[in-house]
Amino acid sequence: MTDPFDLEHIWHPYTSMLNPLPTFKVKRAYGAIIELEDGRTLVDGMSSWWCAIHGYNHPELNQAVTDQLQNMAHIMFGGLTHEPAIELGKLLLKITPPSLDKIFYADSGSVAVEVALKMAVQYWAALNQPAKTNFITTRSGYHGDTWNAMSVCDPVTGMHQIFGTSLPNRIFVPAPQSRFDGQWNPQDIQELTQQIEQHHHSIAALIIEPIVQGAGGMRFYHPEYLRQAKALCEQYNLLLIFDEIATGFGRTGKMFAWEHAQVEPDIMCIGKGLTGGYMTLSATLTTKQVAETISRGEAGVFMHGPTFMANPLACAVALRSTQLLVEQDWQTNIQRIEKILTQQLIDLAQLDHVADVRILGAIGVVELTSNVDMKTLQQQFVERGIWVRPFGKLVYVMPPYVITDDELHYLLAQMSEVVKNMQGVNANVLA
Ligand code: PMP
Repeated sequence: MTDPFDLEHIWHPYTSMLNPLPTFKVKRAYGAIIELEDGRTLVDGMSSWWCAIHGYNHPELNQAVTDQLQNMAHIMFGGLTHEPAIELGKLLLKITPPSLDKIFYADSGSVAVEVALKMAVQYWAALNQPAKTNFITTRSGYHGDTWNAMSVCDPVTGMHQIFGTSLPNRIFVPAPQSRFDGQWNPQDIQELTQQIEQHHHSIAALIIEPIVQGAGGMRFYHPEYLRQAKALCEQYNLLLIFDEIATGFGRTGKMFAWEHAQVEPDIMCIGKGLTGGYMTLSATLTTKQVAETISRGEAGVFMHGPTFMANPLACAVALRSTQLLVEQDWQTNIQRIEKILTQQLIDLAQLDHVADVRILGAIGVVELTSNVDMKTLQQQFVERGIWVRPFGKLVYVMPPYVITDDELHYLLAQMSEVVKNMQGVNANVLA
């Protein structure tokens, strides 16, 4: 079933070339359906890792790309500009925190994070505080796979062990423990407070995924953490960077997750759902004050400029995708998905091998007591006609917003069956 050339020569995400996991060849995808080469269809629970918010093969998004293609697929952004970048920028400023005013377009989520970190360092350099170059962050975070993004990922589940001292040393504090919908425990902020008090002279910024820690554990934490973190940043002169790459564009029930806490960052990274999953594009937004300070610094400019910066095709489809979202009653739609996720998943929490079930917006997470065997589970999901890709102890879904009630019920019923059948099957559990 796995394509022999693919198996032999093509590297997939986080995959061994000696013992690669099977891949399923996709012929096409439409709405919330993925059609495999062999004719089987799968209901998509992943939105291609948070991206395909309007589903696949959307006529209006296709049209936006086709229209833009008639003008130009790409044009350099140094010295030139174009309508899609400008119009997208106008719309982004309307939906992101009011204090954000300047937009830097980049090529992927990881690069947006690199850009954010560089902005923070250049900011303090411009203010004659060149010692402020380090970063503080929480454990269980995930910010991407490039060098500095990796350095602020969780040091245990991230890539620190493999890359060792080649990664810059960051300051880590425990992940927030107070649940999103639970009681706030003031102890949650203690370690962050102590570390900032101790090291603020060397810290440029706190970087954090607001409310939802994604690939680092799919954890939803209390908004009070962000309010107190913001106060600490203000008190001790740290910039606050929100990585909204996964949480953005309605996924958590708010347009962006900062709204749950009403805390505005100094710098914010967005990506993934930005283009509706059509192509790679990200953006790092910041305040007038940060941007102007950087520009007054010794370099006089912000030192970054990727070749495919503000790619017009990507900007055109991002503009249409974001318009599509804001033009519809997306909140009601996310509530519809949240309700069905809750109805269908919550009872799984009764199972002995399920540690927790949590739902927020269009994200449903079943956390097991032990790690899953991804290969076996993925195969079972495909046999049952759904696309769910678990990792670690987590079986989770974040479906395209266009998923119908019937499709969603089917997806969750099949997923639940697989989870229930895992009971006692410890042979399938990897250490
Ligand atoms: N930050 C967060 C919160 C993410 O979830 C991701 C992607 N999973 C990234 C950064 C990196 O984005 P990309 O894969 O586009 O580089």
